[in-house]
Amino acid sequence: MKILVINAGSSSLKYQLIDMQTEEAIAKGTCERIGIAGGKLTHKARGESFVFEKEMESHTDAIALVLEKLTDKKVGVVKSMDEIDAVGHRVVASGEEFTKTTLVTDETMKVLETLSELAPLHNPPAILGINACRAVMKGKKMAMVFDTSFHATMPDYAYMYGIDYDDYKQHKVRKYGFHGTSHAFVSGEAAKYLGKNPADLRIITCHLGNGSSISAVKGGKCIDTSMGFTPLAGVPMGTRSGDIDCAAAEFLFRKKGLGMQEGMNYLNKKCGMLGLSGVSSDFRDLTAACKEGNDRARLALDCFAYACKKYVGAYMVALGGLDCVVFTAGVGENTPSVRAAVLSDMQAFGIVLDETENNRGNDGTIREISAKNSPVKVLVIPTNEELVIARETAQAVGS
Ligand code: AMP
Repeated sequence: MKILVINAGSSSLKYQLIDMQTEEAIAKGTCERIGIAGGKLTHKARGESFVFEKEMESHTDAIALVLEKLTDKKVGVVKSMDEIDAVGHRVVASGEEFTKTTLVTDETMKVLETLSELAPLHNPPAILGINACRAVMKGKKMAMVFDTSFHATMPDYAYMYGIDYDDYKQHKVRKYGFHGTSHAFVSGEAAKYLGKNPADLRIITCHLGNGSSISAVKGGKCIDTSMGFTPLAGVPMGTRSGDIDCAAAEFLFRKKGLGMQEGMNYLNKKCGMLGLSGVSSDFRDLTAACKEGNDRARLALDCFAYACKKYVGAYMVALGGLDCVVFTAGVGENTPSVRAAVLSDMQAFGIVLDETENNRGNDGTIREISAKNSPVKVLVIPTNEELVIARETAQAVGS
């Protein structure tokens, strides 16, 4: 069985064709600059990388181009579209309407369209991607896989904000969480690695990248997560502020003469590591600047590690103890100094890192970086959100 995984952005579209027998991507790529001049498709297959420059007016053009390349005699990996069994679409926000992976139908698309205001930057492009695939791949089974659905198991006291209950009911303002496919994948892989039943494990998963979130997973189910109604909440991120007192934000908007929209843009795009350091949103730049003695880069990294540490502490308590901490995503997989800072001085809580293992380079495999005598295991696990989408899609279409 082969599943095409689509992750559509407003002007880009990423894809992977996954062979479910081996769970390997047999082709993958990205369409860039959809709807703007300078369209480009980067396609990787057969161990090679190919670049095609072609204008794509719409997501439908992009999907048509992807299918052309997937079935091409020279750069393709299948003879025809018939060899693609189903398509899985990444969708960011599910609201409360969808709590699990859902088949794409006229009815479910109508519901999905009502959810765009929950994720105005992310859901509308996903809808464009789904509609494009439905136009080009008529009759093909498709599923929508949500970033939020792994978090649907949070208890009400964890996802509620302290607001008027009627307002929650009417406007659905609550914590939803994000990066769910990643948290689901790495917590599942951790259980496999440890040779334990997920039902018996308490795991904290730290997805630390340009966007970062931390989740508490008990018995294989998410019981809390650091992101909220939107991905702005939680730890400070590349350019996002993370948690901030709403009244402080309102005060700042007033002082800076920013309207609500501009203010939200400020919190999403100009804060976090970038704002704190004045250097960069990129952790590679920050660690380099910090080594050279830049004190604001040091401050940004310290703020990040401290915020992560506090979530680890809080979730250890929420979980009633801890068996395993997992680091994943760009920073989590590649930056030993951040992992060491997040878990520093936690021996009293059973977390002891092995410095040598922590500093070993990322080879793309699962690595155990806790000391042999550490009661809590600490793992680095490369995330694979596309594989989760493909597995969920295979299951939803009934294979
Ligand atoms: P992500 O959002 O998961 O792609 O993560 C991006 C972040 O990971 C950036 O801040 C990068 O600086 C950081 N990072 C650190 N080392 C690496 C690496 N070797 N490859 C990719 N990202 C890295």
